[in-house]
Amino acid sequence: MKLAARETSTFRLCDLSVDELAEWCRGVGQPAYRARQGFHWGFQKRVMDPERMDDLPKPFRQLLGERCEILSSHVVRHLVSQDGTEKLLLELRDGRTVECVLMRGGRRRTACISTQVGCGMGCVFCASGLKGLERNLSRGEILEQLLHLQRLLPHEEKLTNIVVMGMGEPLANLGEVIAALERVLDEQGLGIGARRITLSTVGLPEKMRQLADLGHPFTLAVSLHAPNDRLRDRLVRANTGIGIRAILEAADYYFERTGRRVSYEYVLLGGLNDHPTHARQLAALLEDRCAHVNLIPMNPVPSLPFRAPKAARVRRFVESLERKGIAVTVRKRKGADIDAACGQLRLRVDASESCREDGARSERSGTG
Ligand code: SAH
Repeated sequence: MKLAARETSTFRLCDLSVDELAEWCRGVGQPAYRARQGFHWGFQKRVMDPERMDDLPKPFRQLLGERCEILSSHVVRHLVSQDGTEKLLLELRDGRTVECVLMRGGRRRTACISTQVGCGMGCVFCASGLKGLERNLSRGEILEQLLHLQRLLPHEEKLTNIVVMGMGEPLANLGEVIAALERVLDEQGLGIGARRITLSTVGLPEKMRQLADLGHPFTLAVSLHAPNDRLRDRLVRANTGIGIRAILEAADYYFERTGRRVSYEYVLLGGLNDHPTHARQLAALLEDRCAHVNLIPMNPVPSLPFRAPKAARVRRFVESLERKGIAVTVRKRKGADIDAACGQLRLRVDASESCREDGARSERSGTG
């Protein structure tokens, strides 16, 4: 955005860096430090109304109110699970919707955020990709999810962790994702350290290397889901033309550059990728690597034929990996009663709304 345009036109707070906002402040005759004050109000004090930012001069508050949109998305659904997980469906300016989730566990307050509307990676078991990719989210739209989720917490609690595991493929929108996360790392932003931020990728080798070269010690999770290319081509369409070998090499590069152990996610689909042979093949791929395997029993999606394996089968898979000395965990389901698997709420709302003849929005849940 050019300065002249910024002085007179409206802008969205979450799209700007501190330096860009400082430039705008100078352009309207205010000292640059007003930018830090403004961000402090929005990110730390969770105040979204400039009128209430009471250490800013009144005319400046008024100008901010006229020119600056602090949140461009709004909550259209708010679901609360029995286990304390909360899910928001946000409507963006163009009417499209994305999901984000707040999970509670011990002292952790973890936000799960989306990076795209829909997804183009073609994982056959995933609700987010059923309708393909609609568009990338902007840095502001990514960041705003955190501001909405943070407001669900009492003031004495803060977001402690972020998992970029919502809708979309973060590495297919890397520039905007990193711009948003750099604001999260900033003390004037949310002040959450890179080690407490996990990016989950389908495995795009070039982008994984680019991410490694940025030098932030983010945790990287690679969604492997199959131990050989024949099976992975069937389960993860984006695998065709990439292949597991190139992905593992890029993950090794990530480890070398950042020193961060890579996690491998593996959705267990009963009868498809959960056989003891698959466990042995997976162990062979990972045993010489500094790796951690996160098994995710399939979260059922109503329109899809896949199911989680029986508990005994999951145990056997775990034991097989452990025998080879591989660190392995089984992900606990959170928010099962509120469609917490990414993309499910959006699908359900889209389906129910396209059935309504009057076009009115269906009932809201919770405080949304
Ligand atoms: N595009 C990124 C982020 C996707 S969501 C990626 O592929 O990693 C995060 C994780 O949830 C991925 O491992 C994804 O494969 C998994 N997932 C998607 N649908 C699921 C379902 N129905 N049950 C269990 N895990 C699922």
